[in-house]
Amino acid sequence: MPPDRPYRTRFAPSPTGLLHLGHAFSALTGWARAQEMDGTFLLRIEDIDTPRCTQAFRDAIFDDLHWLGLVWPTPVIEQSQRRMAYDRALSGLIARGLVYPCRCTRTEIRAALSAPQEGAPAPTAPYPGTCRHRPPSDAGPKDGWRLNLDAALESLGDTTMGFFENGPLHPGWHNVTSLALLHAHGDIILARRDIGISYALAVVLDDAAQGITEVVRGEDLFDATPPQILLQNLLELPTPTYWHHALIRDEFGKRLAKRDGGRALQAVRGEGLRPSDIIAQLGF
Ligand code: GLU
Repeated sequence: MPPDRPYRTRFAPSPTGLLHLGHAFSALTGWARAQEMDGTFLLRIEDIDTPRCTQAFRDAIFDDLHWLGLVWPTPVIEQSQRRMAYDRALSGLIARGLVYPCRCTRTEIRAALSAPQEGAPAPTAPYPGTCRHRPPSDAGPKDGWRLNLDAALESLGDTTMGFFENGPLHPGWHNVTSLALLHAHGDIILARRDIGISYALAVVLDDAAQGITEVVRGEDLFDATPPQILLQNLLELPTPTYWHHALIRDEFGKRLAKRDGGRALQAVRGEGLRPSDIIAQLGF
């Protein structure tokens, strides 16, 4: 589905560690798509999870990406600078009666969800709705905010929701149905108690603010897409197309992680590899 706006994609790393070959693959996939579509490649720093984000990791992202030969327009959006935009969107949702304050801890949620058997693993299920009855006026400093999914779906009426995937793994149109949202996601967190915002809400607002027409990112985020489509519809923001790419794995088939420092781009650079070696190794 060709976008009717000029093609813009983004690479959106979190500065919580050094970039590894998997990040290089993701950034280069976005870069290649932007070249192919005669569009623009943007960078966004996803540093809402402030306690884990550092200036050194942020600087290393810029350095590694420049070393790979990538360039992007400035200024670069940094989520830590976008608090006002996030608060505005959240206030709008509160005013519409679509969110409620929640102070449940992870342990409490797990306990409310878990089967009665001793030692049974906690099921992965949507939030059980413990705080759903609480009005916004009840919110205190220890509260986060959750979407009231029933109210959200009701406010959207019979709007058809979905997204078009252009990537090779799940190509085509994907419906986002009420049933799937209720079963797989439920009342998602829109503002965490510790940082005042959530990944889902920030990413939707940032993609719109950057005029992103196609989100290129790893397959691990494919299942996180439906709530983002819901939020775009609620906030009347355009839905981009998506391109979820396969993840780069190590020789044991394990997905590369930031803690796997041996494969950090900085380490690879230290071994004397050139950008062209990396680009060829990753298949570009
Ligand atoms: N910040 C996320 C990450 O580093 C990427 C989010 C996205 O591309 O939507 O995995």
